[in-house]
Amino acid sequence: MELEIKNLSKTYNNGTKALDAISLNITSGMFGLLGPNGAGKSTLMRTLATLQKVDSGSVKVDKIDIFKNEFEIRKMLGYLPQDFGVFPEMSAEEMLDYIASLKGISNRRMRKESVKYLLDRTNLFNVRKNKLGTFSGGMKQRFGIAQALLGDPKIIIVDEPTAGLDPEERNRFHNLLSEISGDKIVILSTHIVDDVRVLCSKMAILHRGKVCFSGSPQESISDLQGKIWEKEINRNEIEEYNNNYKIIISRMLAGKIVIHVLSAKNPGNGFKSVTPDLEDVYFTIIKNGKDNTEGGSADV
Ligand code: ADP
Repeated sequence: MELEIKNLSKTYNNGTKALDAISLNITSGMFGLLGPNGAGKSTLMRTLATLQKVDSGSVKVDKIDIFKNEFEIRKMLGYLPQDFGVFPEMSAEEMLDYIASLKGISNRRMRKESVKYLLDRTNLFNVRKNKLGTFSGGMKQRFGIAQALLGDPKIIIVDEPTAGLDPEERNRFHNLLSEISGDKIVILSTHIVDDVRVLCSKMAILHRGKVCFSGSPQESISDLQGKIWEKEINRNEIEEYNNNYKIIISRMLAGKIVIHVLSAKNPGNGFKSVTPDLEDVYFTIIKNGKDNTEGGSADV
């Protein structure tokens, strides 16, 4: 299965260019779409879910144009939007059964079977009679995955699913996503680097409506090898270092600040070379734009 996105562009009526000639090829497995708020992720997700039109460009699933075959494509698609709402007074089982009817699973017995299977799969069977309004954030998101999986879609789109989850719930949600991927395409949109690091073998970084990187997380990291330098500084020194170095990341650690700077050469002054990770890649792109490594060849 292959999703081929070519030159998608979208400018909203207020002049915001949300997608700027996006091209991506996505194959089976977990694909991470990483970008800060406002990067254009939701616009792209809604477009792929055939809920929004673009100004130009095409999207094909195994050569089928999704804009010309919306009805057919929607049957292959499961979508968990960012603002997924539930009816708080309905039980998980009732609402899943209701959504199954909306999705066209008209046979009552088949519907019951799929609902039971998905409640099991998302670890919600024991709470199936509870009202959705009583569910925790993590339970609601797992319910969101259950509804997205109704009808056994081949493409699953999940938009910012882990924002607001505590670490345990996030972990459980990660496990669920990696279990369902298999032969499906699962597109995970997120601004949380760790979601992509943990789950995705392929990814793209989106910034200001453009694809700044696409490939494997390992590839993106190897591009930065030897160019990330670390130093622990005092809090009152941060401004001075900001003026003199390209700080990629600054983190508090036991009352001190640990900074990572980007430099093709050893900056001296007590900086130590460190092995880059996906956060370094991400913040290099977000803060410095593309290929900005003092003559280095990092095509990140
Ligand atoms: P992300 O999901 O990465 O946060 P979005 O796709 O929601 O990004 O937004 C991309 C840009 O488009 C942002 O600048 C946002 O403010 C703008 N935008 C999103 N939806 C609309 C809309 N319906 N009308 C006008 N601007 C929009």
